[in-house]
Amino acid sequence: MRNNSPWLHQLNKEREPSKLAQDIETDVAVVGGGIAGVASAFFILRDTDKKVALLEGGLLGHGATGHNAGQIVSFLSRPLHDLAKEFKPEMVREAQKMMEEDAWELLDTMYTEAGLDISLSRFTGHFGFASKEHLLSLLEDNVLRKSLGLRLKEILIAEQAEFLEEVGKKYGGFFKIAPHSEILDRLETKKPEFIVCVSEQKGVMNSALFTERVAEYLLEKYPERFAVYEHTHIAKAALHENSAILDAETHAVTAERVILCTNGFDNITIFNKSGLDIDARFHHSLHAVVGYMSGYLEELNKPPTAISYFYEGLTGDDSSGNPYVYLTRRMYEYNENKHNLISIGGPDVSLDDRRKYEKDHEYPEWAKDEINKFVKEIYDTDPNKKIDYIFTWHGLMGYTNNKLRLIGAEPKNPVLLYNLGCNGVGILPSIFGGERIARLVKGEKLPASIFDPRVERAPRDQ
Ligand SMILES: Cc1cc2nc3c(=O)[nH]c(=O)nc-3n(C[C@H](O)[C@H](O)[C@H](O)COP(=O)(O)OP(=O)(O)OC[C@H]3O[C@@H](n4cnc5c(N)ncnc54)[C@H](O)[C@@H]3O)c2cc1C
Repeated sequence: MRNNSPWLHQLNKEREPSKLAQDIETDVAVVGGGIAGVASAFFILRDTDKKVALLEGGLLGHGATGHNAGQIVSFLSRPLHDLAKEFKPEMVREAQKMMEEDAWELLDTMYTEAGLDISLSRFTGHFGFASKEHLLSLLEDNVLRKSLGLRLKEILIAEQAEFLEEVGKKYGGFFKIAPHSEILDRLETKKPEFIVCVSEQKGVMNSALFTERVAEYLLEKYPERFAVYEHTHIAKAALHENSAILDAETHAVTAERVILCTNGFDNITIFNKSGLDIDARFHHSLHAVVGYMSGYLEELNKPPTAISYFYEGLTGDDSSGNPYVYLTRRMYEYNENKHNLISIGGPDVSLDDRRKYEKDHEYPEWAKDEINKFVKEIYDTDPNKKIDYIFTWHGLMGYTNNKLRLIGAEPKNPVLLYNLGCNGVGILPSIFGGERIARLVKGEKLPASIFDPRVERAPRDQ
């Protein structure tokens, strides 16, 4: 089985990518043409008068942006009470508000200003849990949310959950009790193990199509200030005092600022004026995880949804540290007919070196089997129904050691800035990262954030 993503299927096949054909000078060079690169370019062009060149080694939107689940979610990759051990409370509050409020507004801004008409659905989606351990973590987060003035999450616990009385003593007021049937209905399953449900705003979109369309809009809106070069791999970046030179193999790009939006950047070598110090540190702070997904079509008779199941049934190597299966359902046009596309992800594998990732490697049979097992047990349980997974795909995620996206200027040389490190959830962080980067490029001094790149991360010293 090949790497066959439903999102790339919808891109403009007529588009003619242009490659860098001469040496160029620009104010800002954005390396990486996924959603993070395009969002960074969008806000820099909109909010400053800088010239921007977007340099993409392959094609726009063909990285993780074209191989994800397309689920728009507001959660950070670590529980808030865990982040509060490392960062000041106001920084945790700001980060969560950025995810829950600002990022959605910025997504709307991009969508509206670019005049897009692509499908973007918003609805109440769900998370299902089977274990007391997960529940306790959610409840601790709600306690912290209250003290930070954040909206409490709606946590429903099934009335017959055996630990209800015990958690009630400590966390009364931080959850609601509900009939088990209501929880299972929200999660669209009959699997009785799911006894806890959290419901909140989610959305779905094709982030590759979004990326491509926003780039097209930017090219039209800023013909003098914006250029896109695809099939233009940046092998080296040499950082100087107030500028950088990028080695695009046959040509060079000189820029005042460089924004790395590469999802991880093991395939680029960074020479700082003082040597390879930045390069070495970041090679150690990022690692790669390959996520596998399958999708099938069904009748268009249900509304869109996004549900995550925290479920111990996966046999992958659990690279993200918290196994869950994510399912989305959305309207999808295929062969000129409208269907619902059900896409499911969860199995993943760690790579010790991202250069080993081959984007065309065969989709493994074990991942397909695992996803099918999940579907049959939990979502589409009719034993007589044979499911034809017409899409099977995989993509590379860049994980940072502390599971937080890196957004901001390199402390050792601010000519270089980062908007990278998806940590499993990257659509909204890429967008608010882009806006934050634009403000830095503009010269604003921003309050410290949990996403700031740092030389050392001493506990509570941020
Ligand atoms: C299986 C899977 C499921 C996911 N599900 C979700 C989800 O449901 N919700 C969510 O929010 N997030 C999800 N994500 C994460 C999300 O897709 C990513 O965080 C987001 O798309 C990252 O965008 P990006 O622009 O940072 O990276 P990418 O889209 O990977 O873009 C980086 C680009 O940089 C280019 N590049 C790299 N090195 C160089 C170089 N040296 N020179 C030039 N170009 C270079 C690459 O070719 C690539 O196009 C998922 C990811 C995967 C893989």
